[in-house]
Amino acid sequence: MKAYKNILNGVLVESPESFKSINPATLEELGSVPYSTPDQIDATVEAAKRAQKSWAALPDQERVAYILNIAELFGEHGEFLAELLTREQGKPLGGTGPQDVPGSRFEIAGCEAWTRIPANLSLPSEVVYEDDSRRDELYRLPLGVVAAITPWNWPLMIAVWQIIPALRMGNTVVIKPSEYTSIGTLEMVRLMADILPVGVINSVTGKGDVGSRLVDHPDVNKIMFTGSTETGLKIAARAAARLVPVTLELGGNDAAVVLEDAEPSKIAADLFWGAFLNGGQTCACAKRIYVHESIHDELINQFKTLLKAMPVGDGMKPGIAFGPLQNKVQLDKVVHLLDDAKSEGATVYEGYEPSEKNGYFMPLTIVTGIKDGCRLVDEEQFGPVLPIISYSNLDDVIKAANKLAVGLGASVWSSNIQRAQAVAIQLEAGTVWINKHGAVHPLVPFGGLKKSGMGVEFGVEGLKAVCQTRVITTFK
Ligand code: NDP
Repeated sequence: MKAYKNILNGVLVESPESFKSINPATLEELGSVPYSTPDQIDATVEAAKRAQKSWAALPDQERVAYILNIAELFGEHGEFLAELLTREQGKPLGGTGPQDVPGSRFEIAGCEAWTRIPANLSLPSEVVYEDDSRRDELYRLPLGVVAAITPWNWPLMIAVWQIIPALRMGNTVVIKPSEYTSIGTLEMVRLMADILPVGVINSVTGKGDVGSRLVDHPDVNKIMFTGSTETGLKIAARAAARLVPVTLELGGNDAAVVLEDAEPSKIAADLFWGAFLNGGQTCACAKRIYVHESIHDELINQFKTLLKAMPVGDGMKPGIAFGPLQNKVQLDKVVHLLDDAKSEGATVYEGYEPSEKNGYFMPLTIVTGIKDGCRLVDEEQFGPVLPIISYSNLDDVIKAANKLAVGLGASVWSSNIQRAQAVAIQLEAGTVWINKHGAVHPLVPFGGLKKSGMGVEFGVEGLKAVCQTRVITTFK
């Protein structure tokens, strides 16, 4: 079994203790992951701190060239990373074309896009005020060392979302991946470290205590976190004690509202992928669908047809559209929510029976005859079990969509764009998509309202989030 290593100041390092990474489709051991010691965590942050000044001092175009070289690595090593991702995370290999199943290759293509596009953005200084007596110039300067803490659902792409803007603006990075998906991240970071100056990218691995020590380190100047609301709240409190800025991308429970003028046959495939992408293990998936009663049955029939066309199994095998859940804790949570809905009398329709028996599998499932107040509707399932709720009164649906403590994304589906926009503006979510769900873009700010997060990622706004603002005022 291979022993994977961290990158500390350009050197691959082991730790006295390690833990195993498991393939969720087969339960085979993939390799061992070092459990970073407190001293190693401190040394890693110190290395990042040492490297930061010279990285920030490089001419802007040199940093851009480095980041464009990182973009190239996703082409050169894309297949290697995609296979590792499928083995460790569980999503199928899939493809990148519009007709392909979106899986690991899609994630690697996302890594490349979210590297190349920010590389070509910049935040030059700007004159914010000038008159005869004064000139006020605003600079966006790096913060220093950025801690990146990532989850297990899109482990490489979310790591890139955090790492690349930070590097682009002259920060250095220490990344701590999820204990469930550390190996893919370690290999990606190793490839990045081969390209970058020593100490610019570093990693630590372990469980929550490792992330926690990183958050508390006095030389960490910014925390980028994606994961659960529960952990996000803890991190925000710790960061507040040191006045360290955070960007938090947390869970949601996105509503999709299907108006009566939507055409089920036209929207079904997009709505299906908006809900089931990565088996529903995506922060911005539609997690509760409200559909007008007049088209409810037709939409359910469309979904049943789609479910029947999606084989579930080991994502390394050809033809597989959906893999397992990533870990046992998550599988148990989703099964529990489904059982609860069944006990309340909901109707359940299951798709393909998974072709493997060992892994953390369950069939894609839609649940009807269900209402608000049921746990499967009110709690984020983060898995392939989708509640579909029939409605007659749109105002009630808007209230239901807004009643939860989270507000990451939402969507409205209609053939009348103006009407959809009028509904969209009433939904309390960081992004509302019309006739798609979860369609994020590297140039478009993305972030959650309420307990779904703080701050935004992507585009120029995402670059601002990894900078400090300074003003120089010159009197003439
Ligand atoms: P967590 O929030 O626990 O984990 C996310 C990351 O934070 C991991 O790297 C984790 O490390 C780390 N971490 C855990 N505790 C701390 C801490 N005290 N300080 C610093 N870092 C810490 O998410 P889970 O993986 O447990 O998933 C739980 C739920 O979160 C899911 O059911 C889902 O609802 C939601 N989730 C949301 C995601 C999103 O994209 N918004 C992604 C993944 C999950 P480690 O894994 O080693 O404990």
